[in-house]
Amino acid sequence: MKRCPACNLTKPASEFQCNRTKADGLQSHCRACMNATNTRWREANREQFREAVRVSALKHADRVAAWRAANAERITELGREASWKYKARKRANGIFVVTDKDLRRLLQSPCIGCGTTESIVPDHCIPISRGGRTSIGNLIPLCKTCNNRKRSRFLFEWKQIMNARSYAEVTQ
Ligand SMILES: [Zn+2]
Ligand SMILES: [Zn+2]
Repeated sequence: MKRCPACNLTKPASEFQCNRTKADGLQSHCRACMNATNTRWREANREQFREAVRVSALKHADRVAAWRAANAERITELGREASWKYKARKRANGIFVVTDKDLRRLLQSPCIGCGTTESIVPDHCIPISRGGRTSIGNLIPLCKTCNNRKRSRFLFEWKQIMNARSYAEVTQ
């Protein structure tokens, strides 16, 4: 028989777990008290775990917010890209024959108007409003600025205008 200091009860040795490091080879607290302690520990740790998750989520939220702030431009671009795709799909009555890979390659190409690689949008060589289709063969990389200037002109018309007038005039 052995007395457990936690519950103050004297219990048979079988009620104690083995512990080779103890003088009598048994755990000082009885199984019931050990279990209770373990449960408390688990619960306390669960709380701690939950708290850790909550804290890291908050920290992460900060990081997400910071990332968003730092990448505002990129996020706008992504949104623009998505809305462009949506509009293109709508205009083409569901016929959308440009793969994401094609589109990505196009968006990485320099603007054919001014050569910049910033804010590239796909533009229709033959405008949709004039019978052009949304297919990769009919798409050209244009920067946002040049795209606004070109509007719904044919590419060659726009180029003629570009050649005839100074760049500044076209922007007005
Ligand atoms: Zn006990
Ligand atoms: Zn441009």
